[in-house]
Amino acid sequence: MAPDQAYRWLMSACAPSAGDGFDQHVFASILSLAIGQMAERQVSLAVTSGLDSVALAEIGAQLFPDAAPALAAMAQGATPIVEIEEQSIREILLMYASTPLPLSRPLAQLLARRCNEPHHLWQDLGLRNRGELSTLMERHFARLRTRNQNDMKWKKFLFRMVCGSEGFTLCPAPVCTECDDFAGCFGGEDGIAQLTHSHGDDIPPAAFVEENHTVH
Ligand code: SF4
Repeated sequence: MAPDQAYRWLMSACAPSAGDGFDQHVFASILSLAIGQMAERQVSLAVTSGLDSVALAEIGAQLFPDAAPALAAMAQGATPIVEIEEQSIREILLMYASTPLPLSRPLAQLLARRCNEPHHLWQDLGLRNRGELSTLMERHFARLRTRNQNDMKWKKFLFRMVCGSEGFTLCPAPVCTECDDFAGCFGGEDGIAQLTHSHGDDIPPAAFVEENHTVH
């Protein structure tokens, strides 16, 4: 299934009672890109999303009830292999989770898996812009958002935290302001979104629209 088609499919399967629409949009965006990569890479959704069939069924039941069985089946019974760095990112995110685990745990697993992709993190999550990633972090990992007070690029920030937690650093300078790699860690993360986010005829809830027009 193409990513844009998957996004429409998931958004049309939303649970009407599940919040203001932002979480559905975030999960649908990430899962849509992961679904699109299944055919491209000839792998299961477990590989591209980092979630096994149980986790996919659970997130489906919470947010996309009509699509839950199909989502779970896309894992094809596989268990994602999680390398050490990815596991560390999962654990750091969960340590700072500010929303209940049924939502923050799969989100941490998705984010950690998508950190392996090559673009800006907001792009590899299928979001519209970096502001949506900031909103996501504020909502689900609020204390981590606070720690990233200098607004370092999120992928860099997470990998730097992994290094710190393992007692070493790859940084070539003691402070960021004196570092030759400053532009690589901070600054703009412009780019083109990987999804068009078309809902068909659906109109997103007002709060969701408002949030997604916030510039960060
Ligand atoms: S700017 Fe330099 S010192 Fe700061 S996090 Fe990046 S690599 Fe490390």
